[in-house]
Amino acid sequence: MIKANLHSHSQYCDGKASMEEMVKGALRKGLKILGISSHAPVPFRNNFSITDNAQLSQYCQEVRHLQNKYKDQIDIYLSLEIDYIRGITTDFETFRKNFGLDYTIGSIHLVIGDNNDHLWFIDGPDASNYDRGLHEAFGNDIYKAVSGYYHQINEMITTQKPDMVGHIDKIKMHNKNRYFSEDETWYRQLIDETLDYIKANDCIMEVNTRGIYKGRSDSLFPGEMVLKKALKKGIPISLNSDAHKPDEMDGYYAQALPALKNIGYREIYYYTGIVWEAFALD
Ligand SMILES: [Zn+2]
Ligand SMILES: [Zn+2]
Repeated sequence: MIKANLHSHSQYCDGKASMEEMVKGALRKGLKILGISSHAPVPFRNNFSITDNAQLSQYCQEVRHLQNKYKDQIDIYLSLEIDYIRGITTDFETFRKNFGLDYTIGSIHLVIGDNNDHLWFIDGPDASNYDRGLHEAFGNDIYKAVSGYYHQINEMITTQKPDMVGHIDKIKMHNKNRYFSEDETWYRQLIDETLDYIKANDCIMEVNTRGIYKGRSDSLFPGEMVLKKALKKGIPISLNSDAHKPDEMDGYYAQALPALKNIGYREIYYYTGIVWEAFALD
């Protein structure tokens, strides 16, 4: 099995190392393919994304420079992890066209609230942001809030056409069975619906290991229930670490690969320059 990671960050956004240090980390771990995917700019103040188009241009130049510098050792690709919030974020197509991205990752980190006046931040290390946002944006109505999250993913898929959909069930991370159970029928229906959108729009579904190696989740994003459904529906998956530090490049791969095989997956997809190629899980 080839070792690869198409989801990584650096100091251009909320990563903890320079882009070149991240490339060296990938080399140390024996990766053959590395996708660099900083958080795309969003039109409001924050501490996680590339700030503006000027910095984004610099980012693209540095990826292309490193791609060339290390071309004999590793295949490097230019990407962005792009947020989608209706009426607020920039269209994926604008980023694709203006910056010549090799592929895109579409992820939801901020869910737009009931009255369009609050954003619910579902990520980050701090569960208190999750709790506060749930209250402010949805008045603690967990069904409305979680439905809002998955509907926002569905809308992103149909309107933005990301190549890969990032960590689709990250909404569970700070839940920890406090507000909802993943066994509930309504939750499973939301999962089925989103998987059908992924399948119908020919997207790749990401399997993201970050929650586990950071100790924030006891299962992959997405977890086993979702992975089993996705397998039945014939949805292609890609295993990525969402590294923010050089040493996280292959975080939890040693355990995730046999786990995926156990569930029944036989291949994993990675972008290889023109297409997404299937690599046998062995
Ligand atoms: Zn993300
Ligand atoms: Zn990420």
